[in-house]
Amino acid sequence: MKIDAITIFPEYFAPLQLSLLGKAQEGGLLSINVHDLRAQTKDIHHTVDDAPYGGGAGMVMLADVWGNAIDGVIEDGSDLIILTPAGRRFTQEMAQELSVATHLIFACGRYEGIDDRVREHYSQQEYADRNIRVREVSIGDYVLGGGEVASMVMIEAITRLIPGVLGNPLSLAEESHNEEGYLEYPNYTRPQEWRGIEVPPVLLSGNHGAIATWRSSQARQRKDANSN
Ligand code: SAM
Repeated sequence: MKIDAITIFPEYFAPLQLSLLGKAQEGGLLSINVHDLRAQTKDIHHTVDDAPYGGGAGMVMLADVWGNAIDGVIEDGSDLIILTPAGRRFTQEMAQELSVATHLIFACGRYEGIDDRVREHYSQQEYADRNIRVREVSIGDYVLGGGEVASMVMIEAITRLIPGVLGNPLSLAEESHNEEGYLEYPNYTRPQEWRGIEVPPVLLSGNHGAIATWRSSQARQRKDANSN
């Protein structure tokens, strides 16, 4: 999978070189390129924003600068993801869907966000004919200062689903938020007692049937507790 992230703060993405994602890039499973939006400006001040038409607080990011940046990376089959708190909520299901994409572009807004004509332009039929899809995505019902952290949340959730990225693919088998809305049971490791709290005895019993029953009842309890 190829990922391009466009931002005015490329440094935000440094952590993507670490851990499993760093290894996936070294191993050629993944390529992540971060682009500085200001490199697309033509003026001496490298302006990326202006006051909103109609008045109001804050500044809006310029369509022209964004258009130049996106034109530089977009290709047939790209998914263009515009981060916005007004977008569709990111879920594990969307992560699954995007994990089979070939090329993701993340447009990280700042200030009051990106001039809406950018979304409108890349949603036109000529792009749809090239299999290019635009999605406005929110990572949750709160407002962040910019789209960088939101992009990194999405990148991490999506790319760990690509075969070969996780060291042990079985880790994905019983994870929370699967198709049935399952939540994983609690996990424990050594020591058997920590600060007076014992590991549930059934996990030490060696009885695999009893362990499986206990785990599924714990998973159900967690799901019920979280749905209240
Ligand atoms: N004025 C916008 C609104 O009320 O919807 C909020 C803009 S926010 C301060 C600046 C940028 O942060 C957005 O353009 C978006 O890229 C990013 N952002 C903020 N919250 C987000 C969220 N929950 N999910 C995804 N991106 C978010």
